[in-house]
Amino acid sequence: MPARAAYDRETIHAILDAGLVAHVAFAVDGQPYVIPTIYARLGERVLFHGSAASRTVRALAAGAPACLTVTLLDGLVLARSAPHHSVNYRSVIVLGQALPVEGSEAHEAALRAFTERIVPGRWGEIRAPTPKELRAVRVLALDLGEASAKLRTGPPLDDEEDYASDVWAGVVPLRTAAGAPAADPRLEEDIPLSPSVAAWIAAHRGSE
Ligand SMILES: Cc1cc2nc3c(=O)[nH]c(=O)nc-3n(C[C@H](O)[C@H](O)[C@H](O)COP(=O)(O)OP(=O)(O)OC[C@H]3O[C@@H](n4cnc5c(N)ncnc54)[C@H](O)[C@@H]3O)c2cc1C
Repeated sequence: MPARAAYDRETIHAILDAGLVAHVAFAVDGQPYVIPTIYARLGERVLFHGSAASRTVRALAAGAPACLTVTLLDGLVLARSAPHHSVNYRSVIVLGQALPVEGSEAHEAALRAFTERIVPGRWGEIRAPTPKELRAVRVLALDLGEASAKLRTGPPLDDEEDYASDVWAGVVPLRTAAGAPAADPRLEEDIPLSPSVAAWIAAHRGSE
C-alpha cells in the first residue's frame, strides 16, 4: 500500500510526538535485536537512553546501523469480509546511526531535554542527578534524515457488492490514555500532585 506512505516532516514529527515507545533494532554478530525503549523527538533527532553497560548502548555506540520504529495503533477496522479487515495506525521508521551524545555538559543537557520532552516541567521538580548517576547512563541520538511514515485512517474498504451485507462493519477506536494517578505508598503525607504530573494527565486523558 505505497499510497499510505508519507515522507513530509510535519507528518513524521506529529507521529513521533504522539508516541512514547519505540523499538530499536540492530544486529550483533549477525543476531538481530529489537529493543523497546522510551524516546523523545527533539528537532530533527530522536533521543533515547540506556545504561552505559547495556548491550544496546554498547552496540549502537560502536556504530551498529540502527532502525527505530514507532507504532501507534488507532483502531480495529472491521470489514464485511475477512480480507478487508485491517487496523488504523500511524507509524514511523527511521534508519541511521544512533550515536551517543558526548561531553558532560551536552550529555546532561540531552538528558534534561529528553526528560522535559516526555513530562514537561518534571526536571525542575526532582532531585538533580549526581555525576555518578550521569556517568551510568548514555543518551543516544538518531538523526531523522532517513525517515518515513505510514498511516491508515477511516472506515473499512469493502468490495462494492458486500456493502449490501447485514453484518456490522466499522472501526473500534483504540488509544493509550492516562488513568487516575496512584501515589507511591511511601509518599510523605500531604504531598499534592506535582504540577508537571497534573498537566501531563490532563493532556493525556484522551476523549471518549
Ligand atoms: C516500554 C518499555 C520502555 C523501556 N524504556 C527503556 C529506556 O528508556 N531505557 C532503557 O535502558 N531500557 C528501557 N527499557 C528496557 C529495554 O527494553 C531493555 O530491556 C534494556 O534497555 C536492556 O537492554 P540490553 O541491551 O542491556 O539488553 P540485554 O542485556 O542485551 O538483554 C539480554 C537478553 O534479555 C532479553 N531482553 C532484553 N530486553 C528485553 C525486553 N524489553 N523484553 C524482553 N526481553 C528482553 C533479550 O533476550 C536479550 O537478548 C524499556 C522497556 C520497555 C518494555
